[in-house]
Order: sequence, then C-alpha cells, then structure tokens
Amino acid sequence: MREFRPVYCKYCRQTLLSDNLEKCSGCGKVGGVMDPTAEPAVLADLVARKQAEPEPATETMGRGFGGALHFFGLLRLTLTGLVCLGLGLAVVLIPDLRDNPRTISGSDVARGIGASVVGFVVMGLVFFSTKRHQ
Ligand SMILES: [Zn+2]
Repeated sequence: MREFRPVYCKYCRQTLLSDNLEKCSGCGKVGGVMDPTAEPAVLADLVARKQAEPEPATETMGRGFGGALHFFGLLRLTLTGLVCLGLGLAVVLIPDLRDNPRTISGSDVARGIGASVVGFVVMGLVFFSTKRHQ
C-alpha cells in the first residue's frame, strides 16, 4: 500500500506530497526526490533558505557589529584587569604610594592584594567569556 508523504525535490526545490520517491510530481525529474525527514542535509538546506529570505545583508552586518562590540567590551575588561593588577603592585612597590615610604606596612599590602584580586577577577571574567564564545 502506497502512502502520500511530504518529499523534497532538489531540482525544483519544492516540498510536496507524493507517494513516489523516484520521480518528482512537480517537475517530472527523476533522482532528485528525497524524504526531508530522513535527510538532514535537506532540512539544513530548507532552514538555510528560510533564514536567507529576510534581508540577509542587514542581519550579517548586525551580527558583525555585535561581535565588534563584544570584542571591544572584552578588550576594555582586559585593560581594566591589567590596570587593577598594576595598581595592586604599585601601591606596594612604589614608595610614594605607601603610608610610610620607608617600609611596607600591612595596609599597603592589603590594598595591593585587594586591587590584585579585583584584577584577577576581571581577567577571569574575560577568560571565561572568551572560552564560552568559541
Ligand atoms: Zn521537482
């Protein structure tokens, strides 16, 4: 017993109901008919054509712009992290930034560690964000 089911013809690029997987009932060509549910490539092609329909240029541009924004956001975060790390080192190593220029006090070290921790956290955020988007 034959059964009508949706088939896809790669020649006329139509999805139609047919009981014939050999010959396309739309254009009459042989060998181009496939079962769209059994053929992932056909589904991918259908999806790709669906997505390509509404203004593909704008969509690609928008995505590129978003990517650039994301990149500069990460760059800024990286710089912020580096500045915090540098600041953490500076308050301990540069005498003028210490409470007492002649010795390194506990509060100098605490400030340095605080700034370094912020720097590490920011750098960690950048690292995980980059990893997730790859
Ligand atoms: Zn056809």
